[in-house]
Amino acid sequence: MASGRAHDRATLLFSALLGVSAAVIWGLDSGLVAAAACVIGGLWLSPDLDTHSNALRRWGPLRGLWWPYRRLIPHRSVWSHGPLIGTGLRLLLLLGWWSLLSALTGWPTNAGLPQMILWLEQQPQQAIALVIGLEASAWLHLVLDGDPWPVEWAQRRRR
Ligand SMILES: [Zn+2]
Repeated sequence: MASGRAHDRATLLFSALLGVSAAVIWGLDSGLVAAAACVIGGLWLSPDLDTHSNALRRWGPLRGLWWPYRRLIPHRSVWSHGPLIGTGLRLLLLLGWWSLLSALTGWPTNAGLPQMILWLEQQPQQAIALVIGLEASAWLHLVLDGDPWPVEWAQRRRR
């Protein structure tokens, strides 16, 4: 399993490579979106938010937002480190906090949402680059953790 610093360095290097690749395939805007999404995914939305990690520290005073995630999800379980499901759950938790904030402040829950959906519809390549960047950072993390996921989880279940 790689250290936090190794994860961070690999994330930055991989984000650059992903950004250049996406820029060559789809253009500069999509390359920048993919690289930024990968950096954010790797440094702030890491699967390791399920433990005291560099990613968790980066949230500063807002790190309490991840308390339920840390309490409910065992470290390195399929729910935090599973492909697609981990990223999906982390985004869902942020959406949940956003909804709670909206309910408490009276701010419309969908504030900014129509604009975001419109942007995604108008920029499908950048929307795909965003999703790929976020998920690629999680896959990089899993590879560096040394999880041959299905094998390791199957072994854990048998124990
Ligand atoms: Zn991990």
